[in-house]
Amino acid sequence: HRSRTVPPDEKKFGMARDTALPITIRRLTKTYGAITALDNVDLDIRAGEFLTLLGPSGSGKTTLLMTLAGFVQPDHGSLRFGDKEVVRLAPHKRDVGMVFQNYALFPHMDVKGNIAFPLRLRGVSHSDSARRVEAALEMVQLSGYGDRKVDQLSGGQRQRVALARALVFEPQIVLMDEPLSALDKTLRESMQIELRNLHNRLGMTTIYVTHDQREALTMSDRIAVINHGRVMQLDVPRTLYDRPANRFVAEFIGESTFLDVDVSQGQCQCEGTLIRTEGLPRDEGQCVLMLRPERLSILDDAPTADMNVFHGQIGQLVYQGDTFLLQVTLSSGRTLAVRAMTSGRNVVNIPSLGAPIRLGLAVQDTILLADPKE
Ligand code: ADP
Ligand code: MG
Repeated sequence: HRSRTVPPDEKKFGMARDTALPITIRRLTKTYGAITALDNVDLDIRAGEFLTLLGPSGSGKTTLLMTLAGFVQPDHGSLRFGDKEVVRLAPHKRDVGMVFQNYALFPHMDVKGNIAFPLRLRGVSHSDSARRVEAALEMVQLSGYGDRKVDQLSGGQRQRVALARALVFEPQIVLMDEPLSALDKTLRESMQIELRNLHNRLGMTTIYVTHDQREALTMSDRIAVINHGRVMQLDVPRTLYDRPANRFVAEFIGESTFLDVDVSQGQCQCEGTLIRTEGLPRDEGQCVLMLRPERLSILDDAPTADMNVFHGQIGQLVYQGDTFLLQVTLSSGRTLAVRAMTSGRNVVNIPSLGAPIRLGLAVQDTILLADPKE
């Protein structure tokens, strides 16, 4: 049962902001035979934050979420909601709302019945329950749909019912495992904004799982990039994209090409020329330069004082509506992807196929990363 009582005149949601809990994860480990699904995970989730777990299939995202919900017992480690250790607590005592990819609605119940289910489990009175179901329906913009059967709803409407059911008991923590992945692109994108707006209004601590980097960038306060059961980087979307901590994160988020760089005596050598970076170069030895296609600019004869310059030849030129995608071959034979806008203020003249081209990379965008081969 809930320790927090809801005043009878409280019609709307929106109390989570005051009661949202931080989550502290320490050394959480889960193995399945030889597979390490979670490998000593440390993670601090702030109260009221929208945090996304982003990683490839099999990286441990669902295992982490299920451990938070209490459906998976870790081998060892600690898990605190606020000040309370919950790692041994039964799932129904954790006050956690969950939304899954496949909705998991009860097909034999109507919409109201589905949403009221968690309230029934918690022994909420009939009148109180009816009022809260109405408020939940209103919140997901399905007022008037209460008596519909689940199979009379579209995919997007079902997903909203699942969301209403997860939120109706005002959990302090909400877990969502790829909740939009079954929806088509247009609906998925509008639901992303809807979910985010809902979170802005309610303010519950939310952990959201996706393997879709654009979805993660769109929705999250912060993103934890997961690989092989480990957190590779935890940061705000912008920092993950602009300043990835390692090559895995750089490859997983956005497009990039990597060029070998040799650092010796404080100088960085790349493609036969010296390149400049902001601040001190990395440790001596081999590393890689990360090149984002849209951060490379096609230079005319303008001065390039604050830029590293690469010379090449256009090997391929593809019109993609909003942008041109160019493949530029450097003198070493390496190719770079380059994106240029097709219209607008920053539009440049694209040289023709086979023509020589000069590419500029701003010094502040010149990011060197450890070479995993080291
Ligand atoms: P993700 O959600 O990121 O795709 P999962 O957490 O589902 O990844 O899985 C992480 C790893 O743990 C995978 O290698 C998966 O095969 C394994 N795994 C997950 N659940 C089980 C289970 N119940 N039994 C055996 N192996 C499992
Ligand atoms: Mg999964």
